[in-house]
Amino acid sequence: MIRFYNTLSGRVEEFKPVRSGQVGLYTCGPTVYDYPHIGNYRAYIFEDLLKRFLLLSGFKVTHVMNITDIDDKTIKGAKALGVSLQDYTKKYIEAFFEDIKVLRILPANYYPRATEHIEDMVKMVKGLLAKGYAYPKDGSVYFSLAKFPDYGKLSKINKDELKAGVRVESDEYEKESVYDFVLWKKARPDEPSWETEFGAGRPGWHLECSAMSTRYLGPTFDIHCGGIDNIFPHHENEIAQSEAYYGQKFVNYWLHCHHLVVDGEKMSKSKGNFYTLRDLLARNINPVDLRFFLLSTHYRKMLNFTFDSLDQAKASRQRIIDFVYELEHQPLTEVSQPQSGSLAAAALTDFTNSLADDLNISAALAALFELIRETNSRLAKNELSPQAASQVLSAIYEMDRVLAVLPEESEEELPAGILTKIEQREQARREKNFALADSIRQELLQQGFVLEDTKEGVRWKKIK
Ligand SMILES: [Zn+2]
Repeated sequence: MIRFYNTLSGRVEEFKPVRSGQVGLYTCGPTVYDYPHIGNYRAYIFEDLLKRFLLLSGFKVTHVMNITDIDDKTIKGAKALGVSLQDYTKKYIEAFFEDIKVLRILPANYYPRATEHIEDMVKMVKGLLAKGYAYPKDGSVYFSLAKFPDYGKLSKINKDELKAGVRVESDEYEKESVYDFVLWKKARPDEPSWETEFGAGRPGWHLECSAMSTRYLGPTFDIHCGGIDNIFPHHENEIAQSEAYYGQKFVNYWLHCHHLVVDGEKMSKSKGNFYTLRDLLARNINPVDLRFFLLSTHYRKMLNFTFDSLDQAKASRQRIIDFVYELEHQPLTEVSQPQSGSLAAAALTDFTNSLADDLNISAALAALFELIRETNSRLAKNELSPQAASQVLSAIYEMDRVLAVLPEESEEELPAGILTKIEQREQARREKNFALADSIRQELLQQGFVLEDTKEGVRWKKIK
């Protein structure tokens, strides 16, 4: 049984998809006005973990992630540079796709762009006007909260406390009531706009997600994700627009990931603790180490990024890599007294059961490291049969379908032990201790690595 914490009910609930064996998943994507920061990637990696776990559990997942390529922020950025909106956002869209690739985030089935779905949004505004949920005012169209009594059911917000300007830049237009949010923004001379029967203008950000999610997943779908800062007003507004328009429940399970802070503080450019993925890559951080770091903390807990904790994640990941490498290359013979009971199968069950419990990643990783520890102990006592070893390897590869942290074949990543030996040999050569250098070279050869000394330094090759 798979269970998730549903923000809507405020409880952990059994997951039951609308259609058996299939999951419709919508995740709020990037607003392409800048490079995403590592807090954004925390959310995208949590969603990737969720999706990979659903795939591992046998579901067919239809994943939609929108690209917000028109909103207040993108328009402001394009204006500041004096370029077209399209030219401005293109660079950040490309950067986003490069980033998710190096972070091993599985691609979505659809990446709808807001500017390519204006027609769907116009249709919704028309429908909401016709049903009386929306009203025009000074050239814009607003959603009337008074007409939607369910408003606040996701964020549990007290409607009496609602103030204008909860969403930054959201109230550039006059509102009839502080509770009402904009669906369609009146055209301005220096902004992109579309002609409609209710006036020229452009969509509000919230409307974009309502239109694009239901366009691809239907009026009611299974899971909608985002960061906790999306709960209000973004997701609350999505619910209001969609349920008012379609007259049925919008989303069954809302999953939200907590914030990422840096050195215990909120990231901000002025404090100098603001990092994009690119900033970290420039410091020679391996993106897969970052992936492992970001996914190792439960998604509903606040995550504190420090370079020390990133180093710890790197070391843990290296332990998995070294273990797999050694087990693959360990010459094993039949043991006289192999231990009974399938270590590997039990660990894999533990791993998947932990993830089925609202993605309990700490328990899942504990199952993985316990498997490593126990296997090493059996190896040391010569109690591991070749068959058991191959079962352990299969279990770890299966777990890595969700984690995606083992080296990919093309990467030829060296286990840390081998690297250390190469460095020791270099040191021996510098000290003219050629006997030692040669013995290390022989040792590496036995482990399947040929060293070549070139002008540029030492090169290594793996013997196939
Ligand atoms: Zn959204």
